[in-house]
Amino acid sequence: MENKKEFRSDVLEKLYRGDSKTSILNQILTQVQAIIPNSICTIYNIDEEGKYLLHEIDLNLPDSNNIALHGIPITDGFISSETKTLFEKRRILENIHSYPLEDHLKNTLQQTCLTSCLLEPIKDPSGKKTGTFTIYYPNNITLNTEELEQISELADLTAIVLDRYRIIEKLEDRENIYRKLANASKDGIFIIKGDKIIEVNKRAEEMTGYSKIELSGMSIFNFMGEDNWSSDYSDGLPKERHYIEAIAVNRANEKLNVGVNIKESSLNGETVCLLSVNDLTHIRNAEKELKKLSQTVIQSPASVVVTNCEGHIEYVNPKFMELTGYNLNEIKGQNPKILSSGNTPLSIYKNLWETIKSGNNWSGELQNKKKNGDLFWEYATISALKDKNEEITHFIGVKEDITQRKRQDQIKEIILNISNAVLSQPTLSDFISFIKQELSKLINTKNFFVALYDEDKECFYMPYHDGEFDSVETFPKGKSISGWVIDHGKALLADIETLFAMAERGEVELLGEPSKIWLGMPLKRKNKTIGVLVIQSYDNEKAVTEEDKEILELVSHQISISIEKKRTEELLKQALLDARESDRLKSVFLTTMSHELRTPLNAVLGFSSIVDMDTPIETAVDFCKMIHQSGEHLLNIVEDLFDISLIETGQIRMTYSTNSLSGLLNEIHDMIIAEQISMNKTHIDLKLHMPDSASLCMLNTDPKRFKQIFLNLLKNALKYTEAGQIEYGLKHDNDQSELPFQFYVKDTGIGIPKDLQKSIFGIFRQANETLSREYNGIGLGLSISKNLVERLGGKIWVESKLGEGSTFHFTHSSCL
Ligand code: ADP
Repeated sequence: MENKKEFRSDVLEKLYRGDSKTSILNQILTQVQAIIPNSICTIYNIDEEGKYLLHEIDLNLPDSNNIALHGIPITDGFISSETKTLFEKRRILENIHSYPLEDHLKNTLQQTCLTSCLLEPIKDPSGKKTGTFTIYYPNNITLNTEELEQISELADLTAIVLDRYRIIEKLEDRENIYRKLANASKDGIFIIKGDKIIEVNKRAEEMTGYSKIELSGMSIFNFMGEDNWSSDYSDGLPKERHYIEAIAVNRANEKLNVGVNIKESSLNGETVCLLSVNDLTHIRNAEKELKKLSQTVIQSPASVVVTNCEGHIEYVNPKFMELTGYNLNEIKGQNPKILSSGNTPLSIYKNLWETIKSGNNWSGELQNKKKNGDLFWEYATISALKDKNEEITHFIGVKEDITQRKRQDQIKEIILNISNAVLSQPTLSDFISFIKQELSKLINTKNFFVALYDEDKECFYMPYHDGEFDSVETFPKGKSISGWVIDHGKALLADIETLFAMAERGEVELLGEPSKIWLGMPLKRKNKTIGVLVIQSYDNEKAVTEEDKEILELVSHQISISIEKKRTEELLKQALLDARESDRLKSVFLTTMSHELRTPLNAVLGFSSIVDMDTPIETAVDFCKMIHQSGEHLLNIVEDLFDISLIETGQIRMTYSTNSLSGLLNEIHDMIIAEQISMNKTHIDLKLHMPDSASLCMLNTDPKRFKQIFLNLLKNALKYTEAGQIEYGLKHDNDQSELPFQFYVKDTGIGIPKDLQKSIFGIFRQANETLSREYNGIGLGLSISKNLVERLGGKIWVESKLGEGSTFHFTHSSCL
């Protein structure tokens, strides 16, 4: 046998070289057999806690023997020779067959002819017994002291081997645990020395796409660019423990967002770094996705409102704020009904809440109110947001501003209604009133009128006017604001300052109560402006807006067409009425004429036929007077007929001259006094009213026609007044020369019914045809007077109460 020392150092070398435990122990067992020929050696070990005997290894001993002893408890009671040995020193059993405890061995031992047994305790370096060395051998062998010594040394060597492997196994166990832990980590773990990778876990392999073998020795910068953390390095190693975020590139050239925790450590006495790398790519992607979504909400052209499940607002997007005028702080915690206009029926809200509370989506149109009170329309889709337990946590409203669309629809509807109303509305006035009502759906039409333009007369007339002030039926175009619209053929939206500025520039003249805001829209037909649609406000300059102007621009075309149609329809109706009327008047005229001409003619013929030589001179004179009166009456009738025919044929000519107003009025006074006498109406008081200031006034007029007008009115006053007085003259002081003169004739006569006060100015029109005949009227005087007044640039009208009297007014331009 080789030298004992060499054997020991050979075993120890193999042990530290890392040879397997079995091969080393087998080498020791073989050495035992070399010392004790034909022997069988078994090594028993004990468990870590020293409670059980464990079979470690043997040479050629059947398994049944090993199984029998493996795991038996270690007590100081006699269970087996092996366990007993653990409490004693070496034992030698000469005849093993005599030991009852070794029954399990008997067969084996008989077959192998082994009878003796040496039990040598195995002690660790501290002297603690950690196993037994059991050697069976034939009884013809006697062991000498040296052999026993050798066996004991081998047992000690075995103790070193077992102890070493116990430690290694323990370490291996621990390493396994750490490896498992490391591999279970969701972070990639890298141990680097300098920049070189020396160890990685599984996740690091997955993350990088390289195997552990490929990674070992690779620079960490291959995975994470040096730029990421160059400043974090000093002397080739990352600095103190800290955290960086970096972009890494894996084997497939994919970019990863990683978060790296760096910890300096030591391994086998050398400084290393532990990198724990967390792949943040999915988080960053989710963040990007989230950012994208939140940007979508922030930049959404639709309003977005998020409320909690109780309906309190938690979030609104910028579009919501822009549209409603509320900011997030003001609206947070509020209920969305803060926007309610009050115009949406409650049943709609009820349905909305029921739908969304049951987890369904609700869509529909709502009319809401902005912070400044303006109304707007929204198409809202409201849905419930649920958590993973299907519980509603929030409601989300996405709302599209459909005010413009709604407005377009309303405008279309208004246009349609207006065009249909041409047939349904009986008169032009009713029709315009209907237009006002329709427009009020979109704009404030409190002060609204339509002024239709009469190009020939250069004046406006208003078939319908419904406003707070200035209710006139006609007005001259002159320099009115409506006239400006006609002249320019375009809309005008002007506030009070603009109107004053226009007036100062002489573009317009402001008459009546000034408006705070005035909007006039031309009504055009075939390149002609037929009128102006006006809305205005006397108290609120914001009552009419640019938007209203735009709306009117859209509807004005249809309004123009419809008004034109209605006007044509009215003109046709009027023409029909006029035709009937003229037919009727023809009969009235013939009857009147036959009466009015016959009466004085009869008088002329009658009286002239009865005068003869026998007629007393006084009677003849009376008859002559009557003949003369009848002649004058006939002449008047003929003159009136002549005048009206001149007027009708447009041949009447005015001959202007400058006259003293007082002179004219005095002349009229003298003439009417004479008339009064001839009409036997001297009991009626006749008063001429002429303010002092008028005594020096000059009137540029046709004096004949001026007197004719006055005398017509005065004669009528005398004719239709039985008692009382007649006052006439100039209405007021005319110190402002730009205002027209206003004359009047006021009587206390029979009066004229309200409904006839206009028609009496028509040709052959009389308030009461039977009655008038009684008063010798033929119904031409007022018609002639009206025409003459208008030719002189004025207008004429009457105020009267039946049974109380009448006042006829007429104006005359004051310009010289
Ligand atoms: P006439 O010759 O019938 O008086 P006019 O044209 O002068 O014709 O008047 C038309 C009608 O107006 C008269 O028939 C009468 O009914 C009414 N009228 C005119 N002036 C007066 C008045 N001062 N008082 C009452 N009725 C009047």
